[in-house]
Amino acid sequence: MAKKQFKAESKRLLDMMIHSIYTHKEIFLRELISNASDAIDKRYYAAMQKGGEGMDRSDYFIRLTPSETTRTLTITDNGCGMTEKELEEDLGTIAKSGTLAFKEAMERPGEAPEEGKAAPEVDVIGQFGVGFYSAFMVAKNIKVYSRTEDGEGHVWESDGQDGYTVKPFDYPAVGTQIVLTLKDDEEGEDYSQYLREYTLTSLVKKYSDYVRYPIRMMEEKRVPKGEKEEGKPQEYETVMEDVVLNSMVPLWKRSKSEVTEEEYARFYRDNFFDIEDPLTTVRVSVEGAVSYTALLFIPQKAPWDFFTKGYKRGLKLYSNGVMIMDACEDLLPDYFGFVKGLVDSPDLSLNISREMLQHDRQLKAIANNLKKKIQAELKRMLESDREKYETFYKAFGQSVKFGVYDQYGVNADFLKDLLLFHSAREGKNVTLHEYVAAMAEDQKAIYYAAGDSLAHCLGLPQAELIREKGYDLLCLTDDVDEFALRVLMSFEEKPFKAATDEDLGLSSEEEKKAMEEKTAENKDLLEKLKEDLAGKVKEVKLSDRLTKSVACLNGEGGMSIEMYKTLTAMPNAGEIPMAFVLELNPEHPVFQKLATLSDSDRKEYAELLYQQARLMAGLPLEDPAAFSELVCKLM
Ligand code: ADP
Repeated sequence: MAKKQFKAESKRLLDMMIHSIYTHKEIFLRELISNASDAIDKRYYAAMQKGGEGMDRSDYFIRLTPSETTRTLTITDNGCGMTEKELEEDLGTIAKSGTLAFKEAMERPGEAPEEGKAAPEVDVIGQFGVGFYSAFMVAKNIKVYSRTEDGEGHVWESDGQDGYTVKPFDYPAVGTQIVLTLKDDEEGEDYSQYLREYTLTSLVKKYSDYVRYPIRMMEEKRVPKGEKEEGKPQEYETVMEDVVLNSMVPLWKRSKSEVTEEEYARFYRDNFFDIEDPLTTVRVSVEGAVSYTALLFIPQKAPWDFFTKGYKRGLKLYSNGVMIMDACEDLLPDYFGFVKGLVDSPDLSLNISREMLQHDRQLKAIANNLKKKIQAELKRMLESDREKYETFYKAFGQSVKFGVYDQYGVNADFLKDLLLFHSAREGKNVTLHEYVAAMAEDQKAIYYAAGDSLAHCLGLPQAELIREKGYDLLCLTDDVDEFALRVLMSFEEKPFKAATDEDLGLSSEEEKKAMEEKTAENKDLLEKLKEDLAGKVKEVKLSDRLTKSVACLNGEGGMSIEMYKTLTAMPNAGEIPMAFVLELNPEHPVFQKLATLSDSDRKEYAELLYQQARLMAGLPLEDPAAFSELVCKLM
């Protein structure tokens, strides 16, 4: 019998398929198993239409049979099988999907189940008509034996190169058997692995664990042989055992009440490679324009590589229980990148390779919904289990803060209630809402101090007056903190104010006037000090925010010294323009002494005050040796 050519420019398409559509050859198994599962669904559906006689749901199976001797991997199913015509049309025409046609027929009126009868549970997977051909990535020859319920058996055969043949064949059962003769191994390509139990088992686990019919395989098992005899070692023998490789019903498709916390925890540990249980588990089921189930986990600790580029963000994506993608990034915003888990939806418009998704509307809708669920869950945790939330925040608070700051704050509003900062007054973390609720009646702003450590923030001279007034101070110790608050600008209508801001808004008109007068009185001295520190500070001025310390250093204009430090520390930062202002406490004895000093002594004092203020601001001494000499001299 002459070979028939593949239709529809199939050869070129086939070539393209084999070489470019799929990035991983191993997915061929997923495709063939999905086809088998679809075929069983079709047979089951047909049986239901006839009144459900004949086979029971549990009679259906998919079987894998590897054979080293013949170098073949056989996939057998007892699904609907294919007629000669279907073998011709569905396998002979690439990109023709019998499954899609079936799906469409089912959706046509008249084909739907009669009223009163439950719709049979069919959830077919295929629809592109290319999956089958992926097998040519690993096989040099494919034979498909098939028979339908009331037809004759046939065998379809092709080596993928130049066409195929279809011949009658007395296949004894209803269903399909696909025999792949694997390609020879070559450098970098180990096709023989698809004959190994281990590889097949893990591929089924990875991609097809939730296919609804049992995927069986005979496995070699070593078992004790007979009773152990006294004084002799136990003898073993190898027997073949029929095992089911897949778990069939996904955890997330079982009813909520049926799944225990422990089961979720185990599932998380096994699938997301954590030795610890998740901090929290969220299950989401949505029925609507886009239906899906999601199972989300928040880990207890950040993985070691979480803040590196190598960290793989995203959720696993399933379409009807078949894994499509291991880490779909589009499902999670960056700031919730710590969430692990999966989404399963029957409504995704998959692209041809079932590997990547088009950035489609469904996906966006799901992502949008999920981020709200995650935010709500975190809020709930914050309100009902503060300790747990603190654990979360310790691990991933930085992510949330980056989220507030990122992209000029487009998500700031959405995330602001999740923020925590250390409160100087409470000695623990507080939310912004808690801060505002505890504000004194006359307090107008939310005050914060940024520094390298808690001690640095608490000891900041600039915050002395704020704290003396009894106002609380938020201590910002993460680099991103101040940037985040600046993006937010205010919370519950209270503006944020850095302790280092030029005007803290704490002085009354009278106090301001008094300060102006004092400045005028000391005009000469301030001028001289400015000259003494020429090239180091842009200005020397008096300040009433210092109550204990004599001096402090500030940045001029909008940039704080902390922000300056952060920006300077960035790779390729280059020169960041920064002007310093030295503020002095006119009530301090040291300041009062300055006026009495000779020019040369004053210059030394000024230098000392400036360097000391640098230290208080967390900046390095400009010349440590000179500084130490100066201190000794003045002692
Ligand atoms: P898809 O599964 O996306 O439709 P395939 O190329 O994988 O595309 O398969 C083409 C068609 O061949 C299927 O739609 C189905 O009609 C038929 N087919 C493939 N495998 C089987 C099988 N094991 N049993 C019955 N029909 C099958």
